[in-house]
Amino acid sequence: MKIYEYQAKEILRKSGIRIPIGKMAKTAKSAAKVAEKLNKKVVVKAQVHSGGRGKAGGIKLAENPQASQDTAAQILQMRIGGLKVKSVLVEEALNISHEYYLSFALDRHAGKTIVMASAEGGVEIEEVAAHSPGKIYKFHLDPAYGLMDFQMRRTCEKLGLEHRMAKEFSEFMKRLYRTYTENDCVLAEINPLVLTAEGNFLAADAKMDLDENALFRHPDFLELREASEDDPIEVEAHKKKIPYVRLEGSIGILGNGAGLVMTTLDMVSREGGKPANFLDVGGGSNWETVKNSLEIVLSDKKVKGVFINIFGGISRCDEVAKGILEADKALNIKIPVVIRLSGTNEEEGRALLAASRFASASTMEDGAKKIVELIEGIGKKV
Ligand code: GDP
Ligand code: MN
Repeated sequence: MKIYEYQAKEILRKSGIRIPIGKMAKTAKSAAKVAEKLNKKVVVKAQVHSGGRGKAGGIKLAENPQASQDTAAQILQMRIGGLKVKSVLVEEALNISHEYYLSFALDRHAGKTIVMASAEGGVEIEEVAAHSPGKIYKFHLDPAYGLMDFQMRRTCEKLGLEHRMAKEFSEFMKRLYRTYTENDCVLAEINPLVLTAEGNFLAADAKMDLDENALFRHPDFLELREASEDDPIEVEAHKKKIPYVRLEGSIGILGNGAGLVMTTLDMVSREGGKPANFLDVGGGSNWETVKNSLEIVLSDKKVKGVFINIFGGISRCDEVAKGILEADKALNIKIPVVIRLSGTNEEEGRALLAASRFASASTMEDGAKKIVELIEGIGKKV
């Protein structure tokens, strides 16, 4: 679960990590008020779950309240990484003397936390990673010992930090690691970790990803979650209590049972297609749920075709077919749809769909192949 920079910074502040003074604002007017209170030069920062805001023009300095109002108005109209900017963070501008990078992240392959640190932090960190990976110091933590003193000393050495600076950086590291573990993070990334002209280390940016499976341990994070959901289709689906996860591809998927849906995603991928979503209509769902689910899948404009894969156990195939037809009545579906119905009342279901324009498939493999072919066919025509 990703959270916004302003939310992450609040967590850091509570853990004793220094952050710039500031406040989130949802309108240009209230952004100006924050700037007025701070009474100094500020930085206005777009709040979106996307990196590269700086490069996209979503981070701007403003000299006075009027300028911050104008800047905020402009940033609040932006989209960054496809996401609409709905709020900004207005903070005191920092006197940056150097930008470092520091992160703790779960390395799933190693089954351990990986620590990464660099003296070349800032907006070019991806460039540094790609072209001079040697400038990023990486190491894993032993889960039994956590972050050890010698590891912090070595990090400081690699980053060229000595004496008081090394001591302070280590203290920052220790606190960030504690925050990372205490909050069940899968990522806590500070880039840039700024050394100010005054000689202090501050978290100028904060990216945090919380482990959803540990949410039960942090009831107060549910609030963060509501404020954080930003995919409008996922929000709509969750309101209707439909388990839906948006993916990057073009083939809409609808199935019943999480296992079947995941297998369907794999099958489509194996045939060379790219799934657009995960959607589980659940067992024993009625036609209305099927209709609503199909509407959710089709509201993603990237979807060029849909594969409906139903195994009728408790679910009845005729009920599913009715839902598909009702969705078609309401939406007049123009893209290819492949349907595989198997199990309880499959004959009745197929009979209902016989007159429709939709293709039917006898097996999951067959269905996956068909939908990929149909979509490629469209690609060739264009
Ligand atoms: P990101 O691009 O989404 O990672 O956003 P960041 O918060 O990291 O900001 C990008 C860049 O903006 C930083 O690397 C800094 O160079 C600059 N920046 C951010 N905050 C400040 C600030 O308070 N003062 C100044 N002068 N520059 C800032
Ligand atoms: Mn950053």
